[in-house]
Amino acid sequence: MSSPPPAGPGFDAHHPPERRLLADCVHCGFCLPACPTYVLWGSEPDSPRGRIDLMTGIAEGAIGLSSTAVEHFDNCLGCLACVTACPSGVQYDRLIERTRAQVERNVPRAPADRLFRAALFQLFPHPGRLRALLPLLRFYEMSGLRAVLARRGLIARLPERLQAMESLLPPLPSRMEMPPRRTPPQKMLRLRVGLVAGCVQRVFFGDVNAATARVLAAEGCEVIVPDQGCCGALELHAGRENDAIGRARRLIAAFEGAGVDRVVVNAAGCGAALKDYGELLADDPRWARRAARFSATVRDISELLAELTPIGDYHPLARRVAYHDACHLQHGQGIRQQPRAVLGRVPSLEVVELPEAEICCGSAGIYNLVKPAPARALGDRKAAHVIASGAEALASANPGCLIQLASALARAGHPLPTYHPVQVLDASLRAADLAPAR
Ligand code: SF4
Ligand code: SF4
Repeated sequence: MSSPPPAGPGFDAHHPPERRLLADCVHCGFCLPACPTYVLWGSEPDSPRGRIDLMTGIAEGAIGLSSTAVEHFDNCLGCLACVTACPSGVQYDRLIERTRAQVERNVPRAPADRLFRAALFQLFPHPGRLRALLPLLRFYEMSGLRAVLARRGLIARLPERLQAMESLLPPLPSRMEMPPRRTPPQKMLRLRVGLVAGCVQRVFFGDVNAATARVLAAEGCEVIVPDQGCCGALELHAGRENDAIGRARRLIAAFEGAGVDRVVVNAAGCGAALKDYGELLADDPRWARRAARFSATVRDISELLAELTPIGDYHPLARRVAYHDACHLQHGQGIRQQPRAVLGRVPSLEVVELPEAEICCGSAGIYNLVKPAPARALGDRKAAHVIASGAEALASANPGCLIQLASALARAGHPLPTYHPVQVLDASLRAADLAPAR
């Protein structure tokens, strides 16, 4: 009898997905309806349970870390809806993070894929490079070139990933806004907070950072914006562990020097990564305690505001705004109730709930650029819910979700203004209307 063929290389010895965590899955399938790729394709290997089975097979040496397995891991959005849905407490977040790092270390990607991903990571974690692109992007949009290329069908002839990049061009800010390095509190001092400025956030959504500082000041916080780089969230969630570790160390040092009580973040993906620093640096004797201490001080803006008894004067804002739960907020950080609670402070504001709130919009870090087809299908599905809700605007606490949904709504012929929830609070505190759509 011939012996079975060798399974091929599996996980290496550096932090493979833990066997005891894999064994927590009892195959009940409760997570399947919450998984966007299972919802789209109905295929078991593209469900959380199927991916856990693949990880288990690789960990046991029954199968190798093959291109087929990698494809199923790459298809995962990392939205963590399965973590919320799982009654057995399976830590899929930790499992997929470790699996992605194994893939990045051990599986060579096709040259075009490798180049594309490398280009994304040469751009997005670098606010200076993003800022340098702004004049070009502005020319592309304002000169009419974009409209001409679309009319002549030239954009539709681009490779799929470049088409996705083009369609996800964020609405450009008319001017660069940035909160001052220090914003004093109004009325009284309750906390000193450090603001994480983000990368895409600070370049394309500086108005969100400025609104965050004003709202915090109105609620009795002194706001400090230390010199800082990227937090490494994109790299961490894509398995580029070493790059993420370097960025984590630098960000921790920057905020330690600021002497703040809390670190506040207004981008859900970044917030999830910052709260993970303790885990990310747990093996590093020089940084483990500092990272754990730092992570314990991190709060999403809605989380911090919900902890503070409101002292701001909120004025009526008679608007119907649909609220979209960003996955890294609702599933990654368990924050669902707080954004609704703080928006509830605005008199006359109607917060519209969306069906399938647990399902990802398809943004998911770099997912909508590397997997444009499923990302687009999920964006269209979410946009249809927003349109059917009859809301006049959309709010979400993640720049990636705002870009993805603005693009999907425009594609559906129903562009709506999009806001971070803190911009809604800021308008109410200033007795102003919501800013017009860009
Ligand atoms: S993280 Fe999201 S896409 Fe990935 S398995 Fe879980 S539910 Fe599915
Ligand atoms: S991950 Fe959780 S919900 Fe999904 S099949 Fe396993 S035990 Fe059931």
